[in-house]
Amino acid sequence: MGRVLALPIHVGIAEKVRDRLELDRMAFSENIYYGPCPLCGGNKSFFMWLHKACFHCYQCGADGVFGRAPESTIGMIAAANEKPKEG
Ligand SMILES: [Zn+2]
Repeated sequence: MGRVLALPIHVGIAEKVRDRLELDRMAFSENIYYGPCPLCGGNKSFFMWLHKACFHCYQCGADGVFGRAPESTIGMIAAANEKPKEG
């Protein structure tokens, strides 16, 4: 690693959303996470590429980039917050 890259702030947003959604990490990648879609409820259809701070749902087709579309980021977090708690 000869070069140090500053992490863009939207990666931090993606990390928060990942944590809120409790996404699982793909076994073969440190940067790809998946889980239920907060928008359509699709089971394991929601994928996030953490290093690119972007997401896509293979069921409802929702996608976006965290930090570049603030309204969608807020919507994602709001949806995550509304996820019913179990137990
Ligand atoms: Zn979806």
